[in-house]
Amino acid sequence: MTAVRVRGLQKRYGKTTAVDGIDLDIQRGEVFGLLGPNGAGKTTTVEILEGYRDRDGGEVEVLGVDPGRAHNSWRDRIGVVWQSTADAPELSVAEITRNFAQYYQHPRDPEQVIDQVGLTEHAGKKVYHLSGGQRRRLDVALGIIGDPELLFLDEPTTGLDPEARRKFADLILGLAQEGTTILLTSHYLDEVETLADRLAVIARGVIVAEGTPKTLGGRATAVSTVQWIGEDGLQTLDTATPAKAVADLYAAHGEITGLTVSRPTLEDVYIKLIGAENE
Ligand code: ATP
Repeated sequence: MTAVRVRGLQKRYGKTTAVDGIDLDIQRGEVFGLLGPNGAGKTTTVEILEGYRDRDGGEVEVLGVDPGRAHNSWRDRIGVVWQSTADAPELSVAEITRNFAQYYQHPRDPEQVIDQVGLTEHAGKKVYHLSGGQRRRLDVALGIIGDPELLFLDEPTTGLDPEARRKFADLILGLAQEGTTILLTSHYLDEVETLADRLAVIARGVIVAEGTPKTLGGRATAVSTVQWIGEDGLQTLDTATPAKAVADLYAAHGEITGLTVSRPTLEDVYIKLIGAENE
């Protein structure tokens, strides 16, 4: 049931070590998020998994096959959303989508895919007339046209407006429900939090934390902040037992004005992890 298995992955570019011993396991049907600052090694890792980059060391299996030695039949089973695929600007959305469908043995229906990414009303437009966000949707359409078992999405929503990002999230959740395994990199933490079943944070070529969005970096058990409005104004209490703190407050004062209990956000945890790495 493993879609991706990586052990001790290494990649150097001259003197730069881009990936320095990464282990990863992604199960079939999972949406897995890869987070990390610029230059952390995400794209390098993803491109090795896609079979577009050689590695210097380690073991990699993607859908049971070493991507470095994979044949076309393997390529047929994966989907890649490129950052601006469409290098045939004179073709229309419908034409390029139909063309791409021909590369695969069991493609999805091009019209349905165009509809799924919200481009039906632009299907007749030439690619060079599309807006940036519309081109991004086309990139996604071309990534899923082959009905892949495993879909790679490297920063798929960069440049999309908030509504388009939300639609994109629905599309990804729909694909995941149909059983597609998805590896997603993104700089939008809210997006990863909504979409990913599990995620890993990578910094300087190594994985510094791994978990679910709710538990990453000890988030679920981290100290909470309880705030309320007391007689002297806003009160703040940091506590590992927020329920008890609220119960004690209620016992002492009755109903509490302006009460909030907050745990660290995914972004708080992420910044802390990355900050610790950079020290
Ligand atoms: P970003 O979030 O900025 O896209 P990333 O996590 O995807 O970053 P990579 O693109 O994998 O990071 O880069 C990892 C490191 O390897 C960086 O230091 C980068 O400069 C270096 N690097 C990447 N590609 C090459 C290349 N072709 N030649 C030399 N160095 C490279």
